[in-house]
Parts: sequence; structure tokens; C-alpha cells
Amino acid sequence: LLSRLADPDLLPAAGLVDGRWIEQVPGGATFAVTNPANGEEIATLPDMGAAETAEAIGAAYRAQKAWAARTAKERSAALRKLHDLILAHVDDLGTILTMEMGKPFGEAKGEVRYGAAYLEWFAEEARRVQGDVLPGQQGDKRVLVLKQPIGVVGMITPWNFPSAMLARKMAPALGVGCAVVAKPAEQTPLSAIALARLCERAGLPAGLFNLIVGMDGPAIGKAMCADTRLRKLSFTGSTEVGRILMRQGADHILKLSLELGGNAPFIVFDDADLDAAAKGAILSKYRNAGQTCVCANRIYVQDGIYDAFADKFAEAARTLRPGDGFVDGVDMGPLIDADGLAKVEDHVADALSKGAELVAGGSRSNAGALFYEPTVLRNVTADMKLAREETFGPVAPLFRFETVEEVIEQANATDYGLAAYFYARDLSCVWRVAEALEYGMIGVNTGIISNEGAPFGGVKQSGLGREGSRYGADDYLEMKYVCLGGV
Ligand code: ADP
Repeated sequence: LLSRLADPDLLPAAGLVDGRWIEQVPGGATFAVTNPANGEEIATLPDMGAAETAEAIGAAYRAQKAWAARTAKERSAALRKLHDLILAHVDDLGTILTMEMGKPFGEAKGEVRYGAAYLEWFAEEARRVQGDVLPGQQGDKRVLVLKQPIGVVGMITPWNFPSAMLARKMAPALGVGCAVVAKPAEQTPLSAIALARLCERAGLPAGLFNLIVGMDGPAIGKAMCADTRLRKLSFTGSTEVGRILMRQGADHILKLSLELGGNAPFIVFDDADLDAAAKGAILSKYRNAGQTCVCANRIYVQDGIYDAFADKFAEAARTLRPGDGFVDGVDMGPLIDADGLAKVEDHVADALSKGAELVAGGSRSNAGALFYEPTVLRNVTADMKLAREETFGPVAPLFRFETVEEVIEQANATDYGLAAYFYARDLSCVWRVAEALEYGMIGVNTGIISNEGAPFGGVKQSGLGREGSRYGADDYLEMKYVCLGGV
């Protein structure tokens, strides 16, 4: 991997604690990172754990107060510098990302730019953290509201967006004056290492951004939840792990931001623009090989347009090419690991055994061991696993519906509430459906909704808090009421 980088110094085989690169842990345990496209080992890293996490929290605790005391303008300038450095290294960062995660190189660079956009955004927002002066209730008193950084923040991120998920969290945290202890997914720690290196080059003080790389997510998570110096945990990953962290954090009333699983409905009404809907569904479904928490998981198509949509959609899906992310013309990378592939196969087999009809794909691809064909199933019904569970793979189940009421009920019949999409032209239908869907984010006539200026987050069991937009800074700020008496 290093030989493919213009700047190999971006990628030390180490974590970062208190400004020191940790290449070895006591006892010498290591873990390997592999390229899911071909199974090749691309890096060996020290297996850091609870001890290093505690040390990092201590370092962050010491660094945070001085960072918060700097002017907003200084913090903003550092974030802006980090943003510029990321863009200057977009090719190397994209290469690292494709190697560790498998997504096509173009998509990988897109992710890097998307993450950088949050640094730019919060470099700007950092300067607009404003308190308030409220009317007093007694003549000699005044009510002031201060906004202060919450302190040390733990961050645990997943493998599907190894670069952007971390950038999206660190940007608001650092911008408003918090310090960070981050733990990337064990499958994809390299993008985070490169970001840590760029933090160093951007001139962030030692201890402000710490990175723990290690195999044992549960142990590192426990060490974070147990330490009262850590005031907040921001997690992106499965609902199951989110629940564990919430339980573990209960002892200390740990504040949490959680971006958890989704089970997005994608609804196509009879009056929709058919071409646009098919295109939007393809983008939403197959981006990142379907391994995206906001990607269309259940596609509901109204009766009158069902056959026409299914034909168009399946035709487009058949043209998508799975393969190594560095090969030109490849649209889709591999599944992340054997478990991911097994889940996809299980969901497809379950649907077929209950009467679904296969119209595209349906089997592993010859591109490599972890690749699966872009797959489309018709006549999918509510009793199939595809209807209830997040598939996290390139499988599109097409459900048929007749009325607006019926589809809203089905779309909402899940514990998740992250993203939902629909295509329609009737204005009244657009409003009513957007209001009735119990989701944190709604795409109307579009399959792509994420951007730094919008509040990303879910309702129900999809999470707590919002990332991005002017609301995103609030997750990292405490409100302090100061009552000024004797005026
Ligand atoms: P996914 O299904 O996407 O792998 P996970 O929720 O399992 O999602 O993983 C997301 C992140 O959470 C990863 O960084 C992983 O190492 C970490 N993780 C897994 N289990 C725990 C846990 N019990 N406590 C803290 N972090 C965990």
C-alpha cells in the first residue's frame, strides 16, 4: 500500500496518544488490515486497548482546556488548514480508503471530499457559537446563557465510511473547543490514521486528537464509558452496539450522539417521473454496494407503474459492474467481509423460498470472493427478512402497493427511522407523505440527501442527535445559565 502513495509518511503503522505515535503495545500484540477486494494483507497495526484508551483520555483532558481557551478564530483557522490538507491529499486518502474498504476509487475520493466539507463547514460555524441574554424575571437580575464545549469526546466509527464518519464528528467537536479520542472500525483503521497525521501537520496541539487502533471494540468502548473525564461519546454503527453503549454510559449519565442502523423505504408513486425514480433508486441502493445506513432497503412501487419501473430498474442494475475499486469502469466494490456476504445470501434465499421472483443478479460475482451481483427481486412481501432487517448489500426488493395510506403504514412499520425517500409529483401527496413518514431525513424526488449543510440523523431506534448544519454544533456544547443578581 505504501508504495502506491505519493506521500507514504501519511500512513504510520501506529495509533496516536498525546502526540506520540504508538507503534507497539506492551506484549507486542498486533492485528492485520486486509483489502476486501482480494484478501491481501495491507498493514499490521499495534492492537491498542483499554490501557491506551485511558491514557489518551488523560491526554485529551489536559489538552482540552487550553484549546477551548483559544479564540474561535484560531480554532477555525486550524480546521480550515486541516480541510485544505485533506483536499491536497485526496488521491492518497482515496487510495487508502479503496484499499481498506473496497469502494471504487472515484467514490472513495468523493467520500474524502464529503468529509472535508464538514471541516470547512465547522471552521465557519465555530465562529458563530453564540450565547444569549434573556429577559430577567426580577428587576435586579439578568439571565445569561453561555455555550461551552462539553469537554473530552470519544468517537467510535464504522467501516462503511471510514474517512467521512470520523471527519463529520471531529469537525464540530474540535471547532467548538472539545478534545477527541477516536476509535475507527478494526476492519478500516487506515483512513483514520491518515487523518490523525494531517491533524498533526495542521498544527493541532499534542493530545487534542488521539487515535486508538485495536481489535477489541468492546474493551475500548468500555474503557471510554467507564472514564468520567470523557464527557460524551459519539458513535456511528449498529443499533445493537448503540444500545450497549447507552447501557454502559448510564452509570455516569454519559451524553451520547448515536447514528445507528436504518431500514430506508423508497416509495415510487404512480405519478412519479419514471426515469428519475429508477435512476434515483439505483444511486440510493447500489452506492457503496448497498452498505450504507441511508440506502434504500425496501422499494415500494405503486401498482400502476410497478411493471414499467421494475423493468427499467432491473435493466439499469444489470449494467452495474462489480470489481476491484481501482479498475476503470467498476461501479461496485466487494462486501466488507464473509459475514456481510452471508447475510446477503441468506436474505435472498429467504425471499426466493417465500415466493419472490429474481429479475437480476442473485448470486456471487466472479469478480472475487466477497463480491455479489447487483440483485433485483420482484413480488417481495412483508413476511420476508428483506422487509424487516437491514440487508447492507446490493439487493433491491420491489414491493407492490395500491394506496397512499397502505404504503405509509408499511414504510413506518419498523423500529428504525433514519432516511426515507419517495418520488411523486402531486404537491399535496408530497407534503402529506413527507409529514407522515417517521424518519429523520426524507428525500423527495432524489436518492441522495447527505451534505454538510443539512442535519443528518435519525428518529426511533436510528439514533440521537444530528450531525452537520448549524444544529450539529449543539451536540458538542453545553448550555450554562448564569443568573446575574444585584444589578
Ligand atoms: P457494523 O455492523 O457496521 O460493523 P458495529 O456497530 O458492530 O457496526 O461497529 C461499529 C463500530 O463499533 C466499530 O468501530 C466497532 O469496532 C465498534 N464496536 C463494536 N462493538 C462494540 C462495543 N461493544 N463497544 C464499543 N464499540 C464497539
